[in-house]
Amino acid sequence: MTTQKRNGIERKRGGEWDLSHLFPSVEEAEESLKRSARKVEIFNTRYKGRLGTLEPHQFRRAVEEYEKILESLGRVHTYAFLLFATDSSKGGILNRFEQEITKIETQLLWFELEFIRLPEKRRSKFIEESGKYKYLLLQWVEEAPYRLGEKEEQILTKKELTSFSAFTRLFDEEMGRFRVDWDGKEIGEEELLSHLYSPDRETRKRAQILMTLELEKRLPLLTYLYNRVVEDWKLTNCDIRGFESPEAPRHLSNRVSQKSVDKLVEVVNKNTDIVEEYYNLKRELLGYSHLLDYDRYAPLESREERVPFEEAKEVVLNTFQNFSPTFHQIAQRAFDDNWIDVYPRSGKRGGAFSCSTTPGVHPYVLLNYTHTRRDIFTLAHELGHAIHQYLSQQAGYLNQNTPLTTAETASIFAEMLLFQQMKKELSREELIPLYASKLEDIFATLFRQIVFTNFERRVFSHIGELTADQLNQIWEEENRKMFGNSVILTSNYRSWWSYIPHFYHTPFYCYAYSYAELLVLTLYQLYREGYPRFEELYLSLLKEGGSRPPQLQFESFGLNLEDPNFWERGIKFLREMVEEFRELVRKEKGK
Ligand SMILES: [Zn+2]
Repeated sequence: MTTQKRNGIERKRGGEWDLSHLFPSVEEAEESLKRSARKVEIFNTRYKGRLGTLEPHQFRRAVEEYEKILESLGRVHTYAFLLFATDSSKGGILNRFEQEITKIETQLLWFELEFIRLPEKRRSKFIEESGKYKYLLLQWVEEAPYRLGEKEEQILTKKELTSFSAFTRLFDEEMGRFRVDWDGKEIGEEELLSHLYSPDRETRKRAQILMTLELEKRLPLLTYLYNRVVEDWKLTNCDIRGFESPEAPRHLSNRVSQKSVDKLVEVVNKNTDIVEEYYNLKRELLGYSHLLDYDRYAPLESREERVPFEEAKEVVLNTFQNFSPTFHQIAQRAFDDNWIDVYPRSGKRGGAFSCSTTPGVHPYVLLNYTHTRRDIFTLAHELGHAIHQYLSQQAGYLNQNTPLTTAETASIFAEMLLFQQMKKELSREELIPLYASKLEDIFATLFRQIVFTNFERRVFSHIGELTADQLNQIWEEENRKMFGNSVILTSNYRSWWSYIPHFYHTPFYCYAYSYAELLVLTLYQLYREGYPRFEELYLSLLKEGGSRPPQLQFESFGLNLEDPNFWERGIKFLREMVEEFRELVRKEKGK
């Protein structure tokens, strides 16, 4: 690690990101906020209450100004967020900035509302001549029927704190108090669940029992809370806002149709034998007569190899080079120009992410690199996001971000590229755990999330309150369908629906993970089949960001998201992977 002087301040370089690309100091960010507040005043004087009198080209200029203001605010927010991400003592700054930003943004809320209430003819004229903002404005119009008047929206926002948010907060607090004794040490939920990955079966079993005991203690409360969440969601979205179904608001924000979600769910449900087959092979490898629910995550590798970051970097760069020079170039810049914060340190948050910024500034990647093979995949994944975010900046600030359903288009793809690359380099003994962890990752996103969705669909279609036993029953049945005869679900597993945060926080959110995963597997399958001009089409898709609906974006590959055959392609690819795994296991056994 080298040290470099800049503006008289000692800065540690190498492995840490450089936030001066956003702002040289907190004070400068603060100044920028003040400038934005003044710009909003000018903007409002100029346009508020007058949209109906503008010419289309004047309206378009108004949208451009609106975008510029939001872009400046976004830049400050990103800066404060990233500052806090690597130094938790900066929470005060983030909080202060967020409050100021919200205050300024609230003064701009009228813009969207006034636009959607314009006479339809004028509105259409504006949309027609809005150039790159067309799809954004169409989205506003699409959401319009579900928006209430200003007064009602205010009432709902205020009451939300004592209804839906109150229930989810109680859930968080209750689970936050979760503590069990583990060999004389108090541990929380996350650490307890990490013991399910232990190579020792007794350890895994003990973790499962302790988890179950804790959940069952809380089951009356969690059942009550979940019933309230479901009821409140239905009341707000269906009865008050008028959505056709409780899942419809999600499809609207994910920019996908009910039909394409239904096709996805149908195809995934139809192909659960892939999961069953895999776990039967895993049972064989572990040498067990039965695989129980607490054996699902049992590791298959005997020892973990340490991979230095320099080596990971090289593998990932080589992988990208073989796919696309553009991918390689952007990734190389990420390493050279300090876009990445590599190692864990005190005060830095856990996990990994890539954060898109504003046009003209590169994305920032946070890692917590601990030298495992899994970390190389995380590096590829996050760099995939960064490449996507970097390219989509060309679409402009309001268009650059994608909905969740297409947000993984480059990240999961990058992981698949890396997987194929590593396959060529590893020995058979190393390949088995590599395949296992990749397949288990895919199952967790693809199949498990659809089990969640099946569970939610049954819960939400039930009239009246559900008892804990009814919820346990639905959970058990839906999980059984996925595992078939491969994994025996013990009676302890019945209550394990009750700790899934998404059920309480964001109903019907989970299918989007599955949607994203299968979309990319399908895309990857096209690439393997040598689809003509793949790289070029793929890069232009990434550059579009969220400026067109996913349905239209994928048409350029001749794909239709509402066609079951579309989804089957990704499944076909997955089947082949399990087939290759079976072959590896067969050779290993025959040795
Ligand atoms: Zn991701």
